[in-house]
Amino acid sequence: MSRFWSATVRALQPYVPGEQPKLPNLVKLNTNENPYGPSPRALEAMRGEIGDSLRLYPDPESTRLREAIAALHGDIAPAQVFVGNGSDEVLAHAFLALLKHEQPILFPDITYSFYPVYCKLYGIDFRAVPLDDSFALRVADYAQPNGGIIFPNPNAPTGRALPLADIEALLKANPDSVVVVDEAYIDFGGESAVALVNHHPNLLVVHTFSKSRSLAGLRVGFAVGHVDLIDALNRVKNSFNSYPLDRLAIAGATAAIEDREWFERTRQAVIRTRGTLTRDLESLGFEVLPSAANFVFARHPRHDAAQTAQALRQRGIIVRHFKLPRIEQFLRITVGTDEQCALLASALREIVGA
Ligand SMILES: *Cc1c(COP(=O)(O)O)cnc(C)c1O
Repeated sequence: MSRFWSATVRALQPYVPGEQPKLPNLVKLNTNENPYGPSPRALEAMRGEIGDSLRLYPDPESTRLREAIAALHGDIAPAQVFVGNGSDEVLAHAFLALLKHEQPILFPDITYSFYPVYCKLYGIDFRAVPLDDSFALRVADYAQPNGGIIFPNPNAPTGRALPLADIEALLKANPDSVVVVDEAYIDFGGESAVALVNHHPNLLVVHTFSKSRSLAGLRVGFAVGHVDLIDALNRVKNSFNSYPLDRLAIAGATAAIEDREWFERTRQAVIRTRGTLTRDLESLGFEVLPSAANFVFARHPRHDAAQTAQALRQRGIIVRHFKLPRIEQFLRITVGTDEQCALLASALREIVGA
């Protein structure tokens, strides 16, 4: 705290990202990064962008990238696509542009912990709606006056997916609110709500390149929705930073979208390993929530989660533990390579088997 801080800054409660340790050789299963590298075509495109052109500003509209994203989704026009510097930035703009109204917004009590941070930043009132006892989102619980609704699908950190029919019911029950579906993990399971965008002008779907496209370090995310929603995001963007994506990001992300084969191969590998990891954890006595994401959320009936995380750390493996009500006995474990997950399983065998 300093006397130079504004009242706004004094009141902030910033998000705390998962640890990015400096130690080499750790098995890093704590921030849901993809264990496989980015598309080689994306890397090549970025290398090709390094040169004299970096003297010039990038395309403020990222037109090439938005066209590639639109083409990927079929009946979506480039004008229905917004891109930003990571989906966190896209989400931030959505909070200010579309979720700041008289009524409080709604999101699950257990969800991406950045949502309440944005609410605080922008002065948005919110109400946390409890997930049910099996950590599933019940659409009926959202039948209450609201200024908007946001949730990840699959949810984080639970990994549970909500069926598309439930999302459609939510949209129909809330025609006067914007519903933001944060699909950071959708490529690892679940059905994308992008298919509903042309039928529901109140739906905004947000995606990231950080997880399924293995480009967390590049910081690219996007939103798909009705042009009126996209216009709102553009108004915020052009009042904040008109060049959010640099030349490397535009080139790399566009090539990553176009490399469908790499995308398919790596996401299927993650999905396969998730199955093995789930079975290994269950055989050690863990309860594992059904996951449609690139992580699993698991608890052991007889072993404290914080202690288990600590014991794993001593063995050079890091996973995520949230010291939060209802989930403090869970560990969130990112699906790594088969080798990394086998190391995790054998470390856990020592820890919980003892
Ligand atoms: C990882 C994640 C994001 C942020 O993605 P970036 O594009 O890296 O900013 C957004 N929402 C959820 C639920 C996430 O897990």
